[in-house]
Amino acid sequence: MIDSHSQARLAENWQAVQQDVLSATTAANRPVDSVTIIGVTKYVDAETTLALVDAGCRILGENRPQVLWKKNEEVDFPDDVRWHLIGHLQRNKLRRSLPYRPMIHSVDSERLLTAIVEEAAGQQIPTKLLLEVNISGEEAKTGLMPQDLRPILESHLDSKHTDTGTGVVEIVGLMAMAGWGTDVAAARHQFAATRQLRDELQQQTGAALPELSMGMSGDFPAAIAEGATMVRIGSRLFEGLLP
Ligand SMILES: *Cc1c(COP(=O)(O)O)cnc(C)c1O
Repeated sequence: MIDSHSQARLAENWQAVQQDVLSATTAANRPVDSVTIIGVTKYVDAETTLALVDAGCRILGENRPQVLWKKNEEVDFPDDVRWHLIGHLQRNKLRRSLPYRPMIHSVDSERLLTAIVEEAAGQQIPTKLLLEVNISGEEAKTGLMPQDLRPILESHLDSKHTDTGTGVVEIVGLMAMAGWGTDVAAARHQFAATRQLRDELQQQTGAALPELSMGMSGDFPAAIAEGATMVRIGSRLFEGLLP
């Protein structure tokens, strides 16, 4: 159990984040329910993660699959908790991860996509995923280069017609992170570029790509202004709780 002071602070932070996301959504003239908040719990232990769930946040993101497994062994999360894997994922972690039915935001290679298709078909677990795009062009960043997305998307769409069970995996959008040290204005340009890329890919391939996962604690209002449907918020939720 976390202490009552921390529990109260967590509830306050969760309310404040929801309020700020709502303000940014209405300021962008978007429907109030068009942005999903993913509570990124990578900074905290299983107990504190559960405390955030108790405060009302039911959609959680982890960047390391091992931590997702471990937390689920340590505490019982309510059945309505939904997990998102947002960090670089190794193929050998898929077998143990898929039973948690995560949405995978960080598909950054065709090899990983192929492995997910195989594993999801084998376990018969319908899986939604996002292609991670390196929109800032930084070498240190993970993610696919923008020009690589179209061929990957097209070959995935083609393979769906071959009846190999791949229909179980659906690419539902793109994920992007602003480059390190970019100010909010520069980040906003990168979010706009991500949305444009998504729009082009939809036109070129006929795929529906409704989801845009972009925006974190420091830049989510800009991401929402540019069309983010999922924001991944970590540190803001744990203000006052972390050392
Ligand atoms: C940690 C992390 C976040 C959350 O970042 P904060 O700045 O703490 O809100 C979002 N996305 C990814 C991929 C992360 O690893």
